[in-house]
Parts: sequence; structure tokens; C-alpha cells
Amino acid sequence: MIFRKNVPLADFNTFGINSTAGEMYIVENKSELFSGEIQNALSKPFFVLGGGSNILLSKDFIPSIIKYNGKGIQFISEDSESRTLQVNAGETWDDVVLFAVDNNLAGIENLSLIPGTAGAAPIQNIGAYGQEVGNAIITVTYYDIPAKCEVTLSNEDCKFGYRDSIFKNQLKGKAIITSITLRLKKIFIPDLRYKQLSEIFLNSNEAPSLKTMRDTIISIRESKLPNPALLGNAGSFFKNPIVSEKQLKFLKSKFETVPSFSSSGLIKIPAAWLIENAGLKAKRIGNVGTYEKQPLVLVNYGGASGEEILKFSELIKSEVFKKLGVSIECEVNIV
Ligand SMILES: Cc1cc2nc3c(=O)[nH]c(=O)nc-3n(C[C@H](O)[C@H](O)[C@H](O)COP(=O)(O)OP(=O)(O)OC[C@H]3O[C@@H](n4cnc5c(N)ncnc54)[C@H](O)[C@@H]3O)c2cc1C
Repeated sequence: MIFRKNVPLADFNTFGINSTAGEMYIVENKSELFSGEIQNALSKPFFVLGGGSNILLSKDFIPSIIKYNGKGIQFISEDSESRTLQVNAGETWDDVVLFAVDNNLAGIENLSLIPGTAGAAPIQNIGAYGQEVGNAIITVTYYDIPAKCEVTLSNEDCKFGYRDSIFKNQLKGKAIITSITLRLKKIFIPDLRYKQLSEIFLNSNEAPSLKTMRDTIISIRESKLPNPALLGNAGSFFKNPIVSEKQLKFLKSKFETVPSFSSSGLIKIPAAWLIENAGLKAKRIGNVGTYEKQPLVLVNYGGASGEEILKFSELIKSEVFKKLGVSIECEVNIV
């Protein structure tokens, strides 16, 4: 375990916010979680940090941070159709995708280049281009903070939903995820439900390989999303709101072009469309703004405080509600 005091956090969150952690415990393996130092840290207020790509540090000072860094990817079983991987929580998520693609295993390739750790992936059931990690996860193992023991949950018990899981609800603040297992398929059937992907591959005679799919996703993402190393951001700041048939009808009566899509039986409206149509695309106040190519992404132009970004996000929410009558919720965790 590594212990540090008064740690500047700018390099620990993709928004690049310069808060300070009073104490930081970097835990390298499960047994360290049971040590006296960590047990003591867990008895006081703390925050569990992964790669910092889905958080907004809204305060200048965080008393204590625990970061689970345990790494390792290994095959644990195999049948005629699939192989099962166990991945420790501190692995970088995109290295897991690369490992799967290099081993000709399908099921997570559309989740290429999503920043962050494997341990955080189940928390909001990361998703992109038609895939969600919850469809590949078999189990999630975590350290149960109140019970002081290790627990393994089945996929069903994780209660995966749209950017949601039990870890954002009943187990919020009570779990440190230490590993996940993923069932990946030996046969690759490209998931081309996402319009931009189907358009790219529609006219091609050959089905894409896993590697081509990964490379294509990476190049789409690089062309659309800001690189946090160059422009601080946490990806989509808001979730796509779920609306009722009635709300959609009402919106369509006012704005003919309102797009909608259904997933898992729910009607969703792209939050990016709502923000753009509320006149907030490329809006900038001080050091914060909506990204010019994707208004769902809030960016730190340099030197923004967490409070400044939080205020800006509240303005976006209230303007969207005022102009279009739809409430949008944060996807990013406010710390
Ligand atoms: C440019 C960019 C693009 C993105 N694109 C997507 C996308 O396409 N789809 C998508 O779903 N997300 C996307 N994201 C969001 C983000 O990458 C994911 O949510 C990611 O899973 C966050 O991982 P992290 O390790 O950085 O978690 P953090 O930001 O460090 O933490 C997120 C939450 O998880 C908790 N947490 C982290 N690790 C653990 C652990 N081991 N145990 C318990 N709790 C833990 C934290 O307390 C916090 O509440 C994007 C972000 C960026 C910056």
C-alpha cells in the first residue's frame, strides 16, 4: 500500500480540477483492504477513486481517498462458445478491451477507448455504440465495507440498467470493487445497430474483423470527443432522458425534428439534441463550456474550479427545462 498526504488531484481526474486530497491510500491487493490502516481510513469519511474519468470534484479539499490499484487479467474457464476472463479492478478498461480483441474474443469491442478502470465499469454499466458491459459481466466481486468481508454478486444481482447498477444505489459508498468476470464469445457477430457504424460497413462486401471494429470505434471517438489530456472533460456529463409517449408527442407537436430512440423498452431523447436546441451548443462562461462538436460534454478550458463546472451544469439543466420542458440528469458523479 502507498500512503500519501496532501495530494494535488489535477492528474487524478480527467476534468483536470486541482482539488487536494488530505490523505490518499493506494491499495495494491485485496489483503491490504483488511489492514489496520485501511480499516481505520474506512471508519472515517472517504471517497473511492478509479481513473477519475466520471467524477466532478466540486470541493477544493477531499479528506481521504482510497484507490484500489490491484491489476491482472486471467482466463478462468472456457467452453465451446466462450472464454471467461477475471479482471482485477485496477486494470485500465481499454487494456481489457485490447486484451479481448487480441485473443479474438467478442462482446466488449464497441466499448473501446472508454477511459477509466475495469472496477468502475460495472458501476454505471458503461455503454457505447450499442454495447453495455453488463451484457458481458458474469460476476462482480467487492469488499463490503460495513460487513468487512468480500462478496461476489451475480449479473442479475448487479441490477444493471441504463448507466445504472446496484453500486449507484443500495451499495453506494458501501463497496470497493476488487474484480469482475466477463464472458466473451469466440464467434464475433458485429454489433452494427449504431447508425454511424452501420453506415460505415453497409457498402463493404466483407464483415469487419474484431480489430477493424475496434479501430473504427477508436477513430469515431477520436473525431467526436475531446481528448482529456488536451481539454479537461468527463465524457457525457448528462444522461439521455427517458420520456413518456405523452411527453414525446407534446415535444413533437412543438419541434417536428425531435429525435428519439427506444432501448430496453424505454423512450429516450438525446440530451445533446435538447442542449443544442436550447441554444447551448458551444456556450462558454469563463473557463467552462459545452464542447463545440458534442454539447453533452462539458469542458474545462483551463483553470476551472469544480464549483464553476457544477454551476455551469446547473445552468444547462435549468435552461433545457425552461425551453423544452424536459429534465436532464447528471451522468457524472459529483464529489
Ligand atoms: C472522454 C470520455 C469519454 C467517455 N465515454 C464514455 C462512454 O462512451 N460510455 C460510458 O459509459 N462512459 C464514458 N465515460 C465515462 C467514464 O469513462 C466511465 O464512467 C468509467 O467507467 C469511469 O471509470 P473511472 O475508473 O475513471 O471511475 P471514477 O471516475 O474514478 O469513478 C466513478 C465512480 O465509480 C466509483 N468507483 C471507481 N472505482 C471504484 C471501485 N473500485 N470500487 C467502488 N467504487 C469505485 C467512484 O467512487 C465514482 O463514484 C467517458 C469519460 C471520458 C472522460
